[in-house]
Amino acid sequence: MTGLRFQVVGEAFKKEPVAVDVPSEPTSAYFGKYVFGKEQMSQYLSKDTVKKINEITKSGKPLDRSIADQVAAGMKQWAIELGATHYTHWFQPLTEGTAEKHDSFIEYAGAPGEGVIEEFSGKLLAQQEPDASSFPNGGLRNTFEARGYSAWDPSSPAFIVDDTLCIPTVFISYTGESLDYKAPLLKALDAVSKAALEVCHYFDTNVKKVYSYLGWEQEYFLVDEGLYAARPDLLMTGRTLLGHESAKNQQLEDHYFGAIPERVQAFMKEVEFEAYKYGIPCKTRHNEVAPNQFELAPIFGETNLAVDQNLLIMSIMKRIARKHGFRVLMHEKPFAGVNGSGKHNNWSLGTDTGVGLLTPGKNPEENLQFVTFMVNILMAVYKNNALLKASVMTAQNAHRLGANEAPPAIISAFLGTQLSGLLEKIENASCEEGIILDEKKKMQLGIGNIPEVFVDNTDRNRTSPFAFTGNRFEFRAVGSSANCASAMIALNTAVAAQLKEFKSTVDSKIAAGVAKEQAIFEVIKEYIKVSKPIRFDGNGYSDEWKAEAAKRGLDCETSVPVIYDAYTTPESVKLFTSTGVFTEKELIARNEVKWDTYTKKIQIEARVLGDLIISSVIPVATRYQNLLLDSANKLVTVFGKDKADKLGEQTLKTIEHISEHVSALQNAVEAMVESRKIANKIESEKEKAIAYHDSVLPYFDTIRYHADKLELIVDDEIWPLPKYRELLFIR
Ligand code: ADP
Ligand code: MG
Repeated sequence: MTGLRFQVVGEAFKKEPVAVDVPSEPTSAYFGKYVFGKEQMSQYLSKDTVKKINEITKSGKPLDRSIADQVAAGMKQWAIELGATHYTHWFQPLTEGTAEKHDSFIEYAGAPGEGVIEEFSGKLLAQQEPDASSFPNGGLRNTFEARGYSAWDPSSPAFIVDDTLCIPTVFISYTGESLDYKAPLLKALDAVSKAALEVCHYFDTNVKKVYSYLGWEQEYFLVDEGLYAARPDLLMTGRTLLGHESAKNQQLEDHYFGAIPERVQAFMKEVEFEAYKYGIPCKTRHNEVAPNQFELAPIFGETNLAVDQNLLIMSIMKRIARKHGFRVLMHEKPFAGVNGSGKHNNWSLGTDTGVGLLTPGKNPEENLQFVTFMVNILMAVYKNNALLKASVMTAQNAHRLGANEAPPAIISAFLGTQLSGLLEKIENASCEEGIILDEKKKMQLGIGNIPEVFVDNTDRNRTSPFAFTGNRFEFRAVGSSANCASAMIALNTAVAAQLKEFKSTVDSKIAAGVAKEQAIFEVIKEYIKVSKPIRFDGNGYSDEWKAEAAKRGLDCETSVPVIYDAYTTPESVKLFTSTGVFTEKELIARNEVKWDTYTKKIQIEARVLGDLIISSVIPVATRYQNLLLDSANKLVTVFGKDKADKLGEQTLKTIEHISEHVSALQNAVEAMVESRKIANKIESEKEKAIAYHDSVLPYFDTIRYHADKLELIVDDEIWPLPKYRELLFIR
């Protein structure tokens, strides 16, 4: 056997697990060692500075320069002791992942040439002006005023990667518009925190702050690095554009939760050690449903920090994978025919007094609070279901959503039988008499008398995109490669606006003389009715649901570029401006970026696909066809025409099939190129993206169909691309 494919397959088989240096101390001894966290602050900063920085973090007040200087000095000392020589403002532009530009600490000590010292001032900590004019900004910055600022986010601790001190920052334009994910996320979190606090005060005036919590579950694939390198489509687009399903894939479900393969185990171990150093509390690791698919999840934390940690761990995973001879695929759908990868966002709200606002309580007061938040969230999700979908939709995630493995491209909420039953009782109770929830005790609702609600997360519905799981909602439609911030901005903003509306409605009832509990009860009752269409406990994969959802008025749009319009409807503009999260200008600009990104993704895939067909698939198919033609000719020489016709009947059929597939491929690729040319001439980003979706993308399936047929026909020994069985089963 010859050729790159067989070489890399052979090498992959021989690879042994890479040894991992196991720290001798327990995890707790080095957890967060590379993070400038509480412990480090108290060691390297004065008590007074720590107090001030905590105040700033809590209140969100602007940073005073002298404090910044003191923090910078402490941080510098800590970082240098750990071997850092550089620092960077670490920010989250509107691309996948993070961006950083490293500067060394050194400055001339005196006149140029007279030796250097390490310098790091409060000014450098607080603000930078990276020349970042080529990050996507949707027209918010013309190049002549291309200044963008990064500014320190003191609520997320700095950390050291390799030799560089990384400072989490927001990235904003000269005129103050957000150019990143972090700035609007912080605004959304602030909005939900304030709105939820006000509602909490109906029940408990001791609460001083409400937090938004996020626990993400990162799914991913690992592929041997050599095999990856031999697949130009994986290399360039992160997914396979071609490839016939292997005879076996996930149908036996023998990979899910099975023993973790050794090389993978070593990789996971090292990722976790690294994660612990950065204070990321990794908790679970396991195989996922598809072969070579895995998952990693930490313990949940405050949303802003959890988002940063997810971005950090994605880059850690990429780095460590290479050390272990793997490439990690974060793409939502790297392989057709097996499950794609998501990133479930487990989300909840909780108070500084330790109460989970989505945790059913122990007494009637707590339970009225629980139901209040539950119902408001349902309202928020109902009113903004199109927006929530838009917040997770990308060219990549579109392959996953709506396929029979992941949440459908329709947002609905699952509550389970008990909770649904409770809401039904409340809905049907008459306000005057309250409701009887417990036959024996004859408990009456109306004055907050909801008895203990049971945590029952046994009846889970894996097909729901937004499911209640005992003490949190699990937003499952988020894609594996996404920045969680996008979903978290939409969700937290929607809930913030809803809670504000709730508060003002209840307050006006109270002002009109209705008792507080009664007022809350009346509004909740109304909300339960109104938001009913969002509740769906059935099979989200079924066609009946699609029809039913349309009848209920839920957003059923499936075209990615059109879905983004949900950001700029009058309702969404009001939502984001009233909460201070986005201006209308920002919303419009960010949609431009989304359309542009969509176009580019499909454009690149189309190019790679076309190249693969023209320069790999067709030549190989033709080569094999020539071999067959030769053999057919030789049959004639040996047996004479009549007998050869009979003996070579199958061969001739195969020759014909190859010709048919090759010519179908040539036609489809040519037509795809033509459609691209037409699409490229369109000025409007939105219309261009729509053209790519409507008239370029549809060729992918046709092309793949014929190429995959050829893969089955052509001699395995000359097929150049590693096959699915090799990509998915070698580890
Ligand atoms: P699953 O059964 O869905 O795999 P896990 O129990 O592994 O769920 O938890 C998934 C994630 O949900 C973890 O990150 C976990 O810390 C997080 N989580 C648990 N409780 C909450 C909560 N109240 N709020 C937010 N996230 C939570
Ligand atoms: Mg889960």
